[in-house]
Amino acid sequence: MNTIKVKLCSNCGNSFDCGDISQEKKCWCNDFPPIFNFSEAGDCLCPNCFKNRCSIKIEAYLATISPETALNNKAKNLPKTNHLIKGIDYYLENGNYVFKAWFHLKRGSCCGNGCRHCPY
Ligand SMILES: [Zn+2]
Repeated sequence: MNTIKVKLCSNCGNSFDCGDISQEKKCWCNDFPPIFNFSEAGDCLCPNCFKNRCSIKIEAYLATISPETALNNKAKNLPKTNHLIKGIDYYLENGNYVFKAWFHLKRGSCCGNGCRHCPY
């Protein structure tokens, strides 16, 4: 059973594959945090545009977070995933992983290591 569809991105017009590859291998969009409702994300964004939209939404949310509110942030209630997304969870600097505030928010507490983007 192959449920992959080729769609056109409603933002940039590029074509992309959409759908579950198999029972185990879900559509790429499942790697992203479920922070959209369909009306605002649309069904038809390519991985690049989807990631950009995600980043914008996350940045807007981070702007509302203070150390007082971080412990009760909404991100820590999202389903846990081991899949880290470059540009969303971390970025690379001189070959090193630098975790972004979003990653720390999902963990739900400060790890005490003095991370650069610690929101707590
Ligand atoms: Zn696109």
